[in-house]
Amino acid sequence: MQSFNPPVRTLMGPGPSDIHPRVLSALARPTIGHLDPEFIRMMDETKELLKYAFQTTNELTMPVSAPGSAGMETCFVNLVEPGDKVIVCINGVFGNRMKENIERFGGEAIVVADDWGTAVTPEKVEAACQANPDAKIVAFVHAETSTGACSDVAAICQIAQKHDCLTIVDAVTSLGGIELKVDEWGVDAIYSGTQKCLSCVPGLSPISFNEKALEKVKNRSSKVPSWFLDLNLVLGYWGGGAKRAYHHTAPVNALYGLHESLLMLKEEGIENAWKRHADMHQQLKTGLEKMGIKFVVDEASRLPQLNSVWIPQGVDDAKIRSTLLNEYNLEIGAGLGDFAGKVWRIGLMGDTARKEKVLFCLAALNEVLP
Ligand code: PLP
Repeated sequence: MQSFNPPVRTLMGPGPSDIHPRVLSALARPTIGHLDPEFIRMMDETKELLKYAFQTTNELTMPVSAPGSAGMETCFVNLVEPGDKVIVCINGVFGNRMKENIERFGGEAIVVADDWGTAVTPEKVEAACQANPDAKIVAFVHAETSTGACSDVAAICQIAQKHDCLTIVDAVTSLGGIELKVDEWGVDAIYSGTQKCLSCVPGLSPISFNEKALEKVKNRSSKVPSWFLDLNLVLGYWGGGAKRAYHHTAPVNALYGLHESLLMLKEEGIENAWKRHADMHQQLKTGLEKMGIKFVVDEASRLPQLNSVWIPQGVDDAKIRSTLLNEYNLEIGAGLGDFAGKVWRIGLMGDTARKEKVLFCLAALNEVLP
């Protein structure tokens, strides 16, 4: 055996996305202790930078030491108590995963279903809230990575608030790529991932809880049924203040990477990052449409960072993707679930949302398509 040296790819799938050299070099800095005062200083800065990314002043804003799925579980395991009714919107793979979480933690899932490739319909959420006045939570995905559809966070949160429900929002694919305003839109609990529009390594999950959500966690009548994800315990380490206690060994170097990628987002300015993603989407769209390739999602609810397109008729899905990978070092995403074999997912996330990469992808597709 030898050291592992991965090929240098251009990552234009559903994540992970390309990582900027500044972030890669941050990962290689010397490891220090997770209770070292210098490390704690960096943790505090990371929390501030995450607040900026989420557009929130929530004190409880921190990265969970595990991938996006753990951020999802952190929200559900802390906020759902046995017997709680939770309205969950399903318009793709990740809404389904939320339902799994609700049921595993003893909640009752009330499903609001929308077709794959469409946004969650706020009127259906309103109807579900009216039909279930005892519901405690409304949960939904902002940016459905399996389809490329974007849902209206502000509208759904407003409905949930009117019916006295907390909201849990999946922002794994949205954070840093499209407009997201946690405080202004009234989101109560939210989670994301670092490997999409933040262009950092996979394996960390930023979360943010407002006071109302934290109150629910603190006043549970039963213990949180996960030791590792119990926020009452995690906050002894991440909560701030002079006294930090060991909870688990933080992924020190991965957090250097997150600090660097968030710093880059701050330097660029979040509105500029949102605009860059939108502009790159326009460029990709123009090129794909010239090739006769059609989008799955209507323009009004289309995500710029996750472009789902119908595979042209007669084209061999697996062969094209493997040719792109092997001959061009270019990864594009396959369809997931109901869309497997029918759809490609072209990601323009974070550092991948650059003009030279869009043009490269268009040129490569042009060459390999029959
Ligand atoms: N939610 C959404 C919308 C996602 O796209 C993903 C991953 O692609 C996840 C949750 C799970 O994140 P992870 O794969 O980092 O566990």
